[in-house]
This record gives sequence, C-alpha cells and structure tokens, in this order.
Amino acid sequence: MLYTPPPIDPKAPPVRINLLSDTQTKPTAAMREAMARAEVGDEQVGDDPTVNALCERVADLLGKEAAVYMPSGTMCNVTATLVHCRPGDEILAHETAHIIAREGGAHAAIGGFQVTQLKGADGQFTPETFRKALHPRTRYQPPQTVVSVEQTANIGGGTIWKKAALDEIVEIARQHGLVTHMDGARLLNATVASGISPRDMTAGWDSAWIDFSKGLGAPIGGVLAGSRAFIDAVWQWKQRLGGSMRQAGICAAACIYALDHHVDRLADDHANARALARGLSQIAGIEVQEPETNLVFFKPDGAGVPGDKMVAALRQRGVTLAMMDGRIRACTHLDVNVSQIEETIGYVREIVRGA
Ligand SMILES: *Cc1c(COP(=O)(O)O)cnc(C)c1O
Repeated sequence: MLYTPPPIDPKAPPVRINLLSDTQTKPTAAMREAMARAEVGDEQVGDDPTVNALCERVADLLGKEAAVYMPSGTMCNVTATLVHCRPGDEILAHETAHIIAREGGAHAAIGGFQVTQLKGADGQFTPETFRKALHPRTRYQPPQTVVSVEQTANIGGGTIWKKAALDEIVEIARQHGLVTHMDGARLLNATVASGISPRDMTAGWDSAWIDFSKGLGAPIGGVLAGSRAFIDAVWQWKQRLGGSMRQAGICAAACIYALDHHVDRLADDHANARALARGLSQIAGIEVQEPETNLVFFKPDGAGVPGDKMVAALRQRGVTLAMMDGRIRACTHLDVNVSQIEETIGYVREIVRGA
C-alpha cells in the first residue's frame, strides 16, 4: 500500500513531465484571476459569499440538501465518520481504501472506530461480499454503522463502481441499518467517463464529497454534502478540528472556476491515460491495467526492469511518477499533454532496451 515517489536526487534534472499525481496540478492563470476577483467574508460564521455559492453548487450537483467546504478531502472523510459513528463502531470499506491506509489512522485515533477491510478485485468489493461481512447486532460485536466506497477506487486502478453495484450496496445497507458514505475524491472522473450524472451516481448515499485539489486543478479543498442535519453536525467537528476558515472564498473561487471549466476536460485526461496504457502495453514484458479514468497502473518487471528502477530511470529523464502497492502509478491531469505521454512511452521503451 506504500506510495513511493522517486528518491530525492539534487542532481536529477528538473521535472518536465509530472505523472506523480493529479494533486500536483497548479492553478491556471484564469483560475488565479477568478481567485483574485473573489468576494470574500468570514467562512467560519457562514458569511463568505463565494464559499456559500460553492456549497450550494455542490449540494445541487450531488442532489443533497446541504454541503460544507473543507480544507481537504481527508477532513471530509474524517468529519463524516465522526458524525456517522460512535466510539467502538465498525466501518466497512475496501482493504485499499484511503480511510484505512492514508489518513494517519484518524478514524481510530480521533473517533475510536475500527475499519473492517473487505476484499475484492480492482479496489471494489461486491454487494455479496458486503452482505457476508454483516453480522447480527449482539452485545459482543462492534455495531456496524457505515459502509464506505471510493468512487473512483484509487489503488484499484481508478476504477469506476457500477451504478448497479452502488444501488445494491445502498439497499443492503438500508436493510441492515447502516449509513452509506462515498469518498468521491475522483467522483467527477467517474461521472465524466461513465456519462452518469453526479446526482445519479450519489443517489441514495447519505454522505458524499468531491475533491477540488485533484484533477479539477484547484489548490485547496473538498466539499462534503448530505442532509441538512448531517452537515450541521459536520460543522461542529469542522470547528473542533480547526477546519473552520476565514476568507476562504479566495480558494472557493478556484473551485467554482474548476466546476465551470475543468470538468468536461477530464475526458482529455482519460484519453491520455488510455494512450499511455496502449503505448506501454506494446512494450514486451510490461503489464498494464486497462485504465477506466486517469490512473494508469503498470508493472515493468517482466521487461527486466523492477518498478523502483524504472521510476528512478524516468526521474533522470525529467519524468516523475510513483510506486504504489508494488506497481507504478502514472496519473494524467490538467498539466500533462498528449506529446508528453508519447515522450514518456519513448523513455520507457529506451529504459527497457538498455536493461
Ligand atoms: C486524495 C484522496 C483523499 C484525500 O484527499 P486530500 O484532499 O488529499 O485530503 C481521499 N480519498 C481518496 C480516494 C483520495 O484519492
């Protein structure tokens, strides 16, 4: 589950092609102009008009009653489980989920929750696996309170949960009295790729959020949505954790700009990911997972180059990407164009030839 970027090497050339993560996107000039023009107020007391406009936009986009702007996606996940669960409760999630491996143990450390790791291919568990993990409510076992999915499933390869599977999970959760939470860090990648609207994709989910600092290209923040009562309760945790802000409209303006200008173009990132996968799969010995969105996972070992060597050799050529969970992850985004994809494929071919 380790995310290992290339080793820091002061002698390495500057990075020209950044496939490390969609978190590396920089605000564009036009986005910065929108930020500079933003009307602002005191977010903490609900007085920042730009933040309020963003929250209304996202609540509407996801078909929920209300929404709240957070400094990070992690805080969206953490405040959501803090509201949904009580100490000792059990959350069910895929074993590769961000809430398990990448949030510093927050759900256990702050909430006192345990997370059961469900197995399944491509970062997803089946409705049947979920059903089998449920147990009757007894005094012996932890109350099972929340089921959480990641749309798209990051470590699973940026895969898209099918709407039918999501609906079935919601149905099973309802039957058993569990709350449903969707980690939508890359939800809009899933909706753009599948053609299913965000509102339909999150229908039935009690809480859902989108990240603006990933492929949408904004510098900061995520927006968490749900019922009015849920969002009111989330606000208390936001305050407790120090996540209430002041003139956050400067950043929210970047998010509104991203909703207006950076959503449809996610399709370009997906096309670039497919082009990268196609090029890599034509190199003998390289195993590539067919991408569904903007994440390309591949393994060069069969071509005689271990993953970490490949990452280091690419870094020497000005390309940065990371090892993740034993494979290499390349992430396409706003700041990567198709000629850089071709260039990267050429370098991989060159490195394999030299091995
Ligand atoms: C990035 C990410 C998060 C956390 O978002 P931050 O804004 O980095 O805190 C949560 N879940 C998934 C699937 C992610 O990829």
